[in-house]
Amino acid sequence: MKPALITHDISARHDVPAGHPERPERYAAILDHIGDNYQSWQRAAAPLAERSQLELVHSESYLDMVFDVTGDADEPAPLDADTWASKRGYECASRAAGGACLAVDMVMENKASTAFSLMRPPGHHAEPEQAMGFCLFSSAAIAARHAQQKWGLNRIAVIDFDVHHGNGTQACFWNDGSLFYASSHQMPLFPGTGAYDETGAYQNIFNLPLAYGTGGSSIRSGWRDDLLPSVVAAKPDLIIISAGFDAHEADPLGGLQMTSDDFGILTNDIIDAANEAAEHSGAVRVVSLLEGGYDLNALGQSVCQHMTGLEGI
Ligand SMILES: [Zn+2]
Repeated sequence: MKPALITHDISARHDVPAGHPERPERYAAILDHIGDNYQSWQRAAAPLAERSQLELVHSESYLDMVFDVTGDADEPAPLDADTWASKRGYECASRAAGGACLAVDMVMENKASTAFSLMRPPGHHAEPEQAMGFCLFSSAAIAARHAQQKWGLNRIAVIDFDVHHGNGTQACFWNDGSLFYASSHQMPLFPGTGAYDETGAYQNIFNLPLAYGTGGSSIRSGWRDDLLPSVVAAKPDLIIISAGFDAHEADPLGGLQMTSDDFGILTNDIIDAANEAAEHSGAVRVVSLLEGGYDLNALGQSVCQHMTGLEGI
């Protein structure tokens, strides 16, 4: 079985104001770095999410509001202080959520060994009723609930190594003991959540806040010794990686010191943890979704290291 790369050209056409870091060039930079490599990966187009899939996390009134704002906007329109939606924003965010659900479907149908969605914008800051931090729809949380509803999976873990805490995913999972969220992130930093003692209503949230300047080997040790053992103990059937690459030392938004190679090693460690979890719960599928990463060169290099790691499944 081949791994799958999920893409769609609309990711290159969801416009934001000049100078905004979450920009269409991110998508092009990743494809440039992939180039003619990774020929063993099959390609799949990200579909629009079904409205019912978006409603697994977001309210009808929120979805209507985003649709109304983005549907009429000739120029990018603000949804909050740093989250913008263009005329194509709703479609683009819908395909990001749809690509996440397709990733789940492809591994559950045994059509792919793993699947990585390169769609933007990211999703892990979007709360059920609030766009935040460049994010419109909470794609990882939507994919988790989709996996439960369509495929009857019981326990699902999201692993998030973006430099920012995924407040949206945490908010969606907080009161659900079947959903687990593990995150390393710089603190203090936007959005301000993610303290060690934020553990969820069922001890199902695992946060590892990191000081400015923390190096890659320390971050990987935190995952290996703290977060990944918690994920294994949760006995998930499915692991969804919220793959943000803004913890890279070159990233303009973060202050952590991961290298591109560190992201490859961390991915290998996640795969090892998935295999260990499989000893408890049978097959553990792994999919990955792009979150942040704002230095174009570091982003492209890190994505390639991540894909090489994912090939180890
Ligand atoms: Zn981020």
